[in-house]
Amino acid sequence: MSKVVAGLIVKGAGKLLGDAETFLGRAVKEKGEASAIAFPETAFYLPLANALLGLETRTLSGAGKILAAAKTLVVKVPAEDKWETFLKDALNAGVAAILSEEIICALRYLYREEPQPDCPGFLPDTILRSLGIQLVDGRMSGIGVILGKAPDPKTAVDIVRDLQKRNILTLVGGSVDGVSIVDQLKESGLHMGLESYVVPYGRDTESVVYVLNFAIRAALTFGGIKAGNTAACVDYVRNRVSAFVLLLGGVDEVKAATGGGALAAGVPIITDLHLPEIKVSGVCAHEECLVKEPDHKKIVQRAIETRGIKIKLTEIPVPVAYSAAFEGERVRKADTYVQFGGKYSSAFEYLKMRKSDEIEDGKITVQGPEIDSMDEGSAQPFGIVIEVAGRKMLQDYEPILERQIHKYLNYAMGIFHMGQRDMSWIRISKDARGAGFKIRHFGDILAAKLHDEYGAIVDKVQVTIYTSQKDVEKMLPGARKAFEARDERLAGMTDEAVDTFYSCTLCQSFAPDHVCVVSPERLGLCGAYSWLDAKAAHEITPTGGNQPIRKGRVEDVVKGVWEGINTFVKDGSHGRVSRVTVYSIMDSPMTSCGCFECIVAIVPEANGVMIVNREYTGETPAGMTFTTLAGSVGGGNQTPGFLGVGRLYVVSKKFISAEGGLKRVVWMPKELKDALKSKLEKRCEEIGEPGLLDKIADETVTTDPLALAEHLAKVSHTALAMEPMI
Ligand code: SF4
Repeated sequence: MSKVVAGLIVKGAGKLLGDAETFLGRAVKEKGEASAIAFPETAFYLPLANALLGLETRTLSGAGKILAAAKTLVVKVPAEDKWETFLKDALNAGVAAILSEEIICALRYLYREEPQPDCPGFLPDTILRSLGIQLVDGRMSGIGVILGKAPDPKTAVDIVRDLQKRNILTLVGGSVDGVSIVDQLKESGLHMGLESYVVPYGRDTESVVYVLNFAIRAALTFGGIKAGNTAACVDYVRNRVSAFVLLLGGVDEVKAATGGGALAAGVPIITDLHLPEIKVSGVCAHEECLVKEPDHKKIVQRAIETRGIKIKLTEIPVPVAYSAAFEGERVRKADTYVQFGGKYSSAFEYLKMRKSDEIEDGKITVQGPEIDSMDEGSAQPFGIVIEVAGRKMLQDYEPILERQIHKYLNYAMGIFHMGQRDMSWIRISKDARGAGFKIRHFGDILAAKLHDEYGAIVDKVQVTIYTSQKDVEKMLPGARKAFEARDERLAGMTDEAVDTFYSCTLCQSFAPDHVCVVSPERLGLCGAYSWLDAKAAHEITPTGGNQPIRKGRVEDVVKGVWEGINTFVKDGSHGRVSRVTVYSIMDSPMTSCGCFECIVAIVPEANGVMIVNREYTGETPAGMTFTTLAGSVGGGNQTPGFLGVGRLYVVSKKFISAEGGLKRVVWMPKELKDALKSKLEKRCEEIGEPGLLDKIADETVTTDPLALAEHLAKVSHTALAMEPMI
């Protein structure tokens, strides 16, 4: 390692340690050493210190211990002839730097100086969990961190667009000579937010620690690695988190020290500066750690190659940028050229299976006016009918393919899509219209993407788009009839009716021992994979993460134990789990990876269970928030009494049926109750307890377990009359 770089790292680490000590000293004096220090909504305290040192820091005095440990990592600059062996020491100094930065940022929270304007600040555990599924299913191909500034706002936008097009989550921050890339992007009007994969973390170097402690939490959350196991945590980030840093515009000692911390955590740096390159195997996933690329047009590609990120891009023949990064982009009313559906006009979308000779592959028809004859600001009638044919296509796959319309259309920049079936709502922005986007491009997108992602089951795709009121009205009744028939068919699909369940091990890239067992009545815990999804995914990629599991000999029909499932799970979990029940929360429950939509947890005082969804941030009767509870449920572990589940499993007939199912549910957040209301009411009727939903408490009743028990007694909740859970 160059002595210039190493010297800067050590100097910067010393400065950051000094800054952290001074800030901490002031805080202790003003607030007392027992004062609490914490980031919002995390179960991992100060995550870097927790992961790397095994310290569960809650107070200012605890923060002092972190700094004492960090200090031991910084050695004096060695003699001239020892520079060759200085790499390890320099990286250790980098670790001391990022530990110091974590304390500085946590203290800023104590003084309400964070989050900074326009920046979300510390990224809560829930965001990590929700991004987990996007990283494993390939929608998000990696994480790029920009530190500094681009030569000018246009170059800043070009670099970020380049990353967006490749589905890379881009975290931007830092500054050089008082200019931050955050403001360059803001000035250019680029939309920032998680939904567009561009998130500002702060305008100073220290706040890059939000990115690093986000990455290290992946090891604790999904990898099931114990806090304090430094080598395993770093290995995890190095091998499983596809992250890199783009250092732009300038470097000082603090940036160098922070970069040293990033390198120590296995994150390579690509820079436009004339710094000496560093190539040391064993530090980063690939040999190159610090790489130079002065050409801003090539820097993103260089970063991707350096980090070894695999990107799957399909050329979509439309005149606007197209990538998953635009999925969450909204088109505001003022920016809309024309819209369809919502509450403004009638619209529908419908996918139908046909015989091969009934359709023509690639035929796109717009029946009715094109966008050129539509007035700006108008709402127009709209209907999309997609007809597909394929030797392996089944009628059961129709809803799966139809569901993709939402994301496929949203991936186009300047297009907004919401809803489904006869409740869809689409907007085309003025910019997209200006770029030449036409109605027929919806058809081009759908045909290209269905071929690309479902080519194993779909051979032909034909799309007809209706844009006249007369045609939409004519087509709608038939589509509605088909939706009803489809719902009836799917509702009749039960676990008993099939002899094969499906595995999902997609999350093993994060939680190496986790196996989801997906049955017709129990979807994957992320909520994204139903039994039919898994079945279709297996057809598409026969050697992929979704494998058929023959149930085999039944061992316990009530708890849902089958010989074939156990054998598969034992193998899939690498021997860690040898018995799993599909319907029990108390006996050998299914493992949880970390991206579950809800947690079901026993409430012993109530002889029942509570359910909490990821979006709810308040307290629960378990005495913990979702985030804290999640900290002890994930990582591919089996935790009796606790279960990570998909939302829709709650309304399944098989929901913890071994313990009595819905009758055990004593508490859930109001938002979840409201979201599932009609389905829950139906289930309550089915189990002969029509008034049960009103008896289930939420946060407006209480979050205290004893008060909850009193409430349940008052309303005669079913759980109180059931067998003891423990
Ligand atoms: S079904 Fe399970 S393993 Fe598959 S992506 Fe969802 S949570 Fe991960």
